[in-house]
Amino acid sequence: MRAIALKMALEAHNYWLTTTEFPTTDLSLLLPEVVDVAVIGSGFTGLSAARTLAKRGARVAVFESETIGWGASSRNGGMVLSGLKLRVSQLQSRYGPERTRQMYAASLASIDCVEQIVQEEGIECDFSRCGHLEVACKQKHFDDYQRQAELIEIEFNHKLRILAKSELHREIGSNIYFGGMVDEISAGCNPARYVAGLARAAMRAGVEIYEHARVNAIERDSRQGELGWKISTLRGQVWAHEIFVGTSGYTGAVTPALQKKIIPIGSFIITTEVLPRALAQELSPRNRMIYDSKNYLYYYRLTPDRRMLFGGRAAFFPENDRTIRRSASLLRRGMMEVYPQLRDARVEYVWGGTLDFAFDIMPHAGQMDGMYYAVGYAGHGVAMATYQGQRIAQMMAGDNPENPFVGIPLPGAPLGLYHGRPWFLPLAGAWYKMLDWMG
Ligand SMILES: Cc1cc2nc3c(=O)[nH]c(=O)nc-3n(C[C@H](O)[C@H](O)[C@H](O)COP(=O)(O)OP(=O)(O)OC[C@H]3O[C@@H](n4cnc5c(N)ncnc54)[C@H](O)[C@@H]3O)c2cc1C
Repeated sequence: MRAIALKMALEAHNYWLTTTEFPTTDLSLLLPEVVDVAVIGSGFTGLSAARTLAKRGARVAVFESETIGWGASSRNGGMVLSGLKLRVSQLQSRYGPERTRQMYAASLASIDCVEQIVQEEGIECDFSRCGHLEVACKQKHFDDYQRQAELIEIEFNHKLRILAKSELHREIGSNIYFGGMVDEISAGCNPARYVAGLARAAMRAGVEIYEHARVNAIERDSRQGELGWKISTLRGQVWAHEIFVGTSGYTGAVTPALQKKIIPIGSFIITTEVLPRALAQELSPRNRMIYDSKNYLYYYRLTPDRRMLFGGRAAFFPENDRTIRRSASLLRRGMMEVYPQLRDARVEYVWGGTLDFAFDIMPHAGQMDGMYYAVGYAGHGVAMATYQGQRIAQMMAGDNPENPFVGIPLPGAPLGLYHGRPWFLPLAGAWYKMLDWMG
């Protein structure tokens, strides 16, 4: 039975895609001569920006190398999470209390932002405020949860619930952890359905989406006395007043300055067969979005049809046949450690995607080389990408929305030793594994 399971898993396929119908676009359509804004990338960031700009009256074209939502936005765990990748104490020492307060508030507002769009646009993506659970792999991680929860309550008046090891069975059917922390504010969704719905909403607002239209050159250009951009795509050329770049982990050489600031990191997911109701209830009695406290972390949840979806950075390099194949067995082993109850469960799907990490592990947004952009969500992109797309679009439309991620320094690699090919990933992977082992 297990051999069959892994054989099936090796036929890499994204489970979410089997549940989702994407809008179709006309591949024979000619590109417009001029648009107000050209958006590069059709994930949460690009589509959220495009929708907001079109609702403000702009003519917007989205250019996507592959198909709508093809990148991380259709491949992720669907966890709509509060907080950032870095802990609040780290944020405070780096950015001070006021900016940290704004950043934390933005992380909460980003969940509201997703919820509001889902409701306004009637997107059927199983959005639910189910809360998230962080589980501590070591006693000292649990002690840190207690400190962080106190700090968050005092500084931001936001309450997280701490669970001692003896209370954890109410939240999770695993006894390998030292305790947990719950945030009821977080949510879950089906990310592929969400990105497909976002595309439909953008199209209804007037956005033109061009699939299989990789942008391969961008030049500064003036037209009738106005400064803008000449953009060459696989489907032809277009002139745009402004450009918004939403390419995240798939940022390439067409925006070289941005590419040098983003490390593309692979993340992988397996999904089991549909589980019996009682077993699913035992594994995750409150149906939380769950992740652990390691650097090389596991994240997992039940899908709406009761499969266990289990993800992690099993291989550090982005997805390809080899990394996906390797991840399938590593993740299955990881899932067994957490949930021995799943030893006979068939793994039916495995896939990978690419995350976008900045060197300081922070989201960044604003303007670079005259182009607008938002990147660096570090695994917290479902909510934050939607939010940043909307915020930067508001900024482009002439508003002045509060956005604490605009203007913070965006560091490059130490000594400038990186030009877009992440040669250091095996070293980084080994380093984080060592930190997990020591820490
Ligand atoms: C396996 C996995 C699990 C994750 N789990 C979670 C989670 O549970 N919760 C969470 O909050 N976050 C999670 N994330 C992160 C989250 O998915 C991303 O941060 C988010 O989707 C980024 O959205 P985006 O629109 O910025 O980029 P993407 O969705 O990656 O879209 C970028 C798009 O740009 C296109 N593109 C690139 N270059 C060009 C070009 N030159 N011309 C045209 N198009 C181009 C690409 O084809 C791609 O479709 C996960 C990511 C992965 C990979």
